[in-house]
Amino acid sequence: MRLNIRGGEAAIALADKDLASNVYALGTPPRIVVDISRAVSGAARAPGAAPAASSRQKTVVLDPGHGGNEEGARGEGARGAGGLLEKDATLALAKSMQEVLVRRGYRVVLTRTTDASVGLEDRAATANAAKADVFLSIHCNASKAPTAHGTEVFYLSLDASDRAAAALAESENRAGLSGSSTEKNAALRDLDLILWDLAQNQHLAASARLAEIVQADFNRLLKITTRGVKQAPFRVLIGVNAPAVLVEVAFISNPDEEKLLSSEEFRRQTAETLAGSLDQYFRKADAVAPVPYAPKPDGKR
Ligand SMILES: [Zn+2]
Repeated sequence: MRLNIRGGEAAIALADKDLASNVYALGTPPRIVVDISRAVSGAARAPGAAPAASSRQKTVVLDPGHGGNEEGARGEGARGAGGLLEKDATLALAKSMQEVLVRRGYRVVLTRTTDASVGLEDRAATANAAKADVFLSIHCNASKAPTAHGTEVFYLSLDASDRAAAALAESENRAGLSGSSTEKNAALRDLDLILWDLAQNQHLAASARLAEIVQADFNRLLKITTRGVKQAPFRVLIGVNAPAVLVEVAFISNPDEEKLLSSEEFRRQTAETLAGSLDQYFRKADAVAPVPYAPKPDGKR
């Protein structure tokens, strides 16, 4: 293996064929990790054998948004009682989802299992270290309009689909940036752009497919027809080297949905719905051969 650094570009030349690489980010200090391992060669399979992918156990990484001193959005609460906190709602949802998914044969990894503060880059790093097949960041929406309701599913774009999506991404991205200098922000932005090139970029088509399935199933669960998939620059998705979506399950700012989010029954329904979405996604994903990531030699896309 050779590493060539020329001006602003670094290139890794691999002497061996059939090597798989996994590129991801770690925070504090911001850095890029390149894992190189020997790929399982397609030629090594017995002729006529079914692809191993369909029978392989899938790893789902669930990312309960926020945590610790970073509470996320807050519900109004009934009759002046303290409202539901997004960080608690997302953890409870993720644990219900984990239970149901494990029962359905998935391997499930959570980016946090307690009320702890976890950086956005570290959440992506957990997914990459676990070799996630999909990554779902779980959040609860908030709006000044108390009647806003329903699920919104996002996948990554550096440009938001609309102004509401941009504002939402900005508020979710604030996590873990407390006390940051503009310098640190600028450094993170540079790193984000590099990673955008390397990590999530190669999974966008699959992320979009996953987002469409989850959105349709959750629209049925919450009996709405008007919401569609959106794109926004969510930092937690950028470094994930797997199909990745961010799900705003329901509006914590809507008193009815806040009540739903507090109920175990709703969390169980949500978990069953997600399991159905993932079953459907993997049935399709396994039927389609993955498109290899092949940047052109001149670096242009
Ligand atoms: Zn959130």
